[in-house]
Amino acid sequence: MPFVDDAFVAVALGANRPSVAGSPRQTLLAVRPELEAEFVCWEKADLCFRWSAVHDTAAVGGPPDQPRYCNAVLLVEGVSAPPAESAALDLLDRLQRLEYRYGRDRSKEQRWGPRALDLDLLFWGELRMDHSRLVLPHPRLHLRTFVVEPLLQVLVEQRCASNPSS
Ligand code: ADP
Ligand code: MG
Repeated sequence: MPFVDDAFVAVALGANRPSVAGSPRQTLLAVRPELEAEFVCWEKADLCFRWSAVHDTAAVGGPPDQPRYCNAVLLVEGVSAPPAESAALDLLDRLQRLEYRYGRDRSKEQRWGPRALDLDLLFWGELRMDHSRLVLPHPRLHLRTFVVEPLLQVLVEQRCASNPSS
């Protein structure tokens, strides 16, 4: 099993309302190539993408009676740039633009209410930051079974073929 301090980047995906791509499950599948393309554009290097399955989970917190969620985690290997705040903020901008393209409009939604697409940065190696727009590692990662389960799933999978020795 790889160590989490290996400068991997991890992203948690969640959705519990329909988007332009269809149901929450369809959204999480449709966004995969776009999210991978954003990473390639951001890092400009060969990357390896490891995806968890899509998990069906109960909503935690937020307004009562929200629909169930679909959740997944993406682990990105091969990021050669050293973890840095400005690059992490650039990545967050890319994630938020992608959320917007799938119909997310924070100005119209309740805190922790239903959303078409939520993309959270979980960690980038050991980078620690406490910026007003980005906290790393994600402060609620360890409290959320719907994040920890898919994260463990990708962490215990075989390493990418391009990184067999690590
Ligand atoms: P949540 O993801 O907690 O359900 P939102 O998606 O509405 O809530 O995000 C609220 C704010 O959290 C965003 O505007 C973003 O700037 C901030 N934020 C802080 N740390 C992170 C992180 N690690 N990943 C994603 N967003 C973050
Ligand atoms: Mg979020």
